[in-house]
Amino acid sequence: MILYNSATRKKEELIPHEAGKISMYTCGPTVYHFAHIGNLRSYIMEDVLERYLRWSGYAVKRAMNITDVGHLTSDADTGEDKMLAGAKREHKSVMDIARFYTDAFFTDAGKLNIVIPDTVVPATSCIDEFIRVISSLLDKGYAYEAGGNIYFDTGKLDNYYVFNDFNEEDLAVGVREGVNADANKRNQTDFVLWFTKSKFDGQELKWDSPWGTGYPGWHIECSCISMQYLGEYLDIHCGGIDNAFPHHTNEIAQSEAYLGHKWCSHWFHVHHLNTETGKMSKSKGEFLTVSLLEEKGYDPLAYRFFCLQSHYRKGLVFSWDNLDNAALSYRKLRARIAPLLTADGAIDQVDFDAWRTRFREAMDNDLATANGLTVLYDLLKSDLTPATKYALVEDFDRVLALSLTEPIPEEAPETGGDDAWILALIEERAAAKRDKNYARADEIRGQLAEQGIILIDTPAGTQYKKEK
Ligand code: AMP
Ligand code: ZN
Repeated sequence: MILYNSATRKKEELIPHEAGKISMYTCGPTVYHFAHIGNLRSYIMEDVLERYLRWSGYAVKRAMNITDVGHLTSDADTGEDKMLAGAKREHKSVMDIARFYTDAFFTDAGKLNIVIPDTVVPATSCIDEFIRVISSLLDKGYAYEAGGNIYFDTGKLDNYYVFNDFNEEDLAVGVREGVNADANKRNQTDFVLWFTKSKFDGQELKWDSPWGTGYPGWHIECSCISMQYLGEYLDIHCGGIDNAFPHHTNEIAQSEAYLGHKWCSHWFHVHHLNTETGKMSKSKGEFLTVSLLEEKGYDPLAYRFFCLQSHYRKGLVFSWDNLDNAALSYRKLRARIAPLLTADGAIDQVDFDAWRTRFREAMDNDLATANGLTVLYDLLKSDLTPATKYALVEDFDRVLALSLTEPIPEEAPETGGDDAWILALIEERAAAKRDKNYARADEIRGQLAEQGIILIDTPAGTQYKKEK
C-alpha cells in the first residue's frame, strides 16, 4: 500500500518491520468531555485504515491510550489538567469523569461502526512504566530536574523539529504558546515529563516518584504505552493533525532517546473537521456530538459516509447542508443495495476478483476512500449478476463499515421529522446569539416555552425537552 508519511512529507510504500504484520498506535481521547464529531472523524479514518490493512491480509496489532491525566489545557505545558477542569465543571471526581466519558466514547464509536482497538490502556494504569522510562532518560542525560519538575532536554537532539513546519493554524498556536516562558526550561521547546511542583493547584491524582509526589506529562504516556504493547519498532502512528506538534514531535524525541534507534516509520495524520468559523474543538465549548446528530434525526452512519466521501488529508467543512446531502446519498445507496440482499445463485469468481482489484487500486493509493466509494457505485451500475454484486458489496463493506448489507430499518431515520420546526428555531436563536441579538434569542425561548418546549443550553449545544 502507498500511504502518505507526514514525517517525510511523501507518499511512501508501507513496509512493515515484520513481514505480514502491522503494529499501529492511536492517540486516544482525552476523557474530560464527550468526543465531538471532529475527534470522531480522526477515529473513523483510522478505523478505515485498520480495516483496510486487515482486508489486505495483514495481521494488525493496534493499541490506544485513554488520556485521563496530564493533558493540560494548552499543549505547551501551560494551564491546568483538562481532567481537573472537567471534574470542576461537573462537580465530580476526576475518576468519575474519566469513567463516564470513556464509556461515552465507546458508545459513540460503536454507533459509527468504529472498532475499538484490542488494547486500550488508560494512562493512570501505567504510572510505574512512565517512571521507569523517565528514570532511564535522566540516566542517559536526555532529561533534567528543574524547579521540582523533570524536563526533556530538546537541546540534546540533532533534529527535534520533525513536524513543526506544517502550515496549520493550530501548530502555530502550539509554537506561540511555547513562548510562554517557563524559567525552569533550558530550551523553550523542552517539555515536562513529570510534574511535582508547578501546575499543582487542586490536582487530584498524584503518585509517589523518585522526584517527589506528582503526575506525568501528557506526551510520555503515548511513547510508553506504545513501546510497552507494540514493541521497539512501530509501523504506523495515528492521530489528528493538531497532535503533530508538539505532541508527536515530543513522542519521537523521547522514544528515540530512550531506545537509541528510530522508532516509528509511518505517521498517519487526519486533517480537521472544521466548522464555518474554524476547527471544531472541545475547548471552545460549542461542538457537535453523535447524540446531538441522533437527536436531530440523523443516522450516525450518514456521518461516517460523509467522512468517507472526502480524503483524510484534506480539511473537511461541516455544515448541516453538507450532512443533509451525505445523509440523502447514504439512504439512496442503502436503498439501491436492498434488492441485492435476497440475491441467490453462483458468484462469478473472475468478476469478483477483478472488481476486488479495482477497489484495492483505489484504496491502495493513500486510502482514497472517495475513490473506493466510486468503485462501489460503478459496481452497482455494472451488469454483474446480483449474487456477485452482493458478495462484492459485503466484501467492500468489511473496509467501509457502512452496514450496507443490513436490512434497512422499517422507518429509516429522516432528518428533521416532526421536530424540525423546533430545531429551526433553535438554530435561529443560536444565530441571534452570535449576532448579539439577545432580544430575539429571548423571544424565541419564550415562544417555545409557550408551546411547552424548554431549552437547555449545554456545552454540546442547545437541547430541548417537552413538558408533559
Ligand atoms: P483529544 O480527545 O482532544 O485528545 O483528541 C482526540 C483526537 O481527535 C486526536 O487525535 C486529535 O488530534 C483529534 N482531533 C481534535 N480535533 C479534531 C478535529 N476538529 N478534526 C479532526 N480530528 C480532531
Ligand atoms: Zn498521543
